[in-house]
Amino acid sequence: MLNFTPRSIEKVEDTDLRITWEDGHETVLDFATLRRQCPCAACKDEWTGEAILDPKAVPDAVAATRADVVGNYALAFAFSDGHGTGIYPFELLRKMCRCVECAYHPGSETN
Ligand SMILES: [Zn+2]
Ligand SMILES: [Zn+2]
Repeated sequence: MLNFTPRSIEKVEDTDLRITWEDGHETVLDFATLRRQCPCAACKDEWTGEAILDPKAVPDAVAATRADVVGNYALAFAFSDGHGTGIYPFELLRKMCRCVECAYHPGSETN
């Protein structure tokens, strides 16, 4: 069972977010990927889960200007491209982990 409680959340340089989970696992996600995976209704169809946002429309250099914990279960980012309506549940963030260890368990992205 994966742990979805972050022990610490920090910004690495201006490009990445590092989350250390309570089980000691570390997830590093770059902000461009986070922005492209935005789960808000303007970026993703709420019913089909299909992406509305064109990933190419997001510049690689996009950064988060702030990150706030929402209700103890999610993170909300304000991105430098002006977008900030996405709520990223910790579970989603952990499932976005692309480290070698997690890459062996793909296909768990359906909710
Ligand atoms: Zn969005
Ligand atoms: Zn991982």
